Amino acid sequence: MTDDVKRLVIIGSGPAGHTAALYAARANLQPFMYEGYVVGGSAGGQLVTTTDVENYPGFPEGITGPELMQLFRKQAARFGTEMVGEDVHEVDFSKRPFTIKGDKTEVKAHSVIISTGATAKRMHVPSEE
Ligand SMILES: Cc1cc2nc3c(=O)[nH]c(=O)nc-3n(C[C@H](O)[C@H](O)[C@H](O)COP(=O)(O)OP(=O)(O)OC[C@H]3O[C@@H](n4cnc5c(N)ncnc54)[C@H](O)[C@@H]3O)c2cc1C
Repeated sequence: MTDDVKRLVIIGSGPAGHTAALYAARANLQPFMYEGYVVGGSAGGQLVTTTDVENYPGFPEGITGPELMQLFRKQAARFGTEMVGEDVHEVDFSKRPFTIKGDKTEVKAHSVIISTGATAKRMHVPSEE
């Protein structure tokens, strides 16, 4: 394994991406995360678009979505997750190591976790916002 090949790249920084990062970082896999920017949501994922999250264990009084995602990020960073605020535009899985192309960076990785989640379908009715 050469130094310029990442052990693990994670695409997406919602709850799934940060959970994967936390476990991988604690296992010394030195994960490299593309947080996402515009293409499929934003850094922190869907929960940064909401107010109170009341069903997450460990927060008996509830917590706001942005606060919760800041805590996820802080915890993943604490164990050494490297994060870049870019979207991924292309991944080549046809040969190893895999190639991941972001807005500005291009990296090679032995493993890739895709945790790009979803975007909510809006109804665009007047009271929605
Ligand atoms: C308004 C609203 C309120 C909600 N409230 C609750 C609640 O109270 N309780 C609850 O349990 N759930 C709630 N949810 C659902 C919850 O947000 C999702 O289940 C959860 O966010 C899914 O996590 P995820 O990590 O799979 O994906 P997401 O949160 O969707 O994160 C996806 C990530 O991938 C990134 N991404 C996508 N494409 C790319 C790309 N090409 N390159 C790089 N990055 C990319 C995005 O930027 C984002 O960071 C709510 C959802 C919404 C929209």
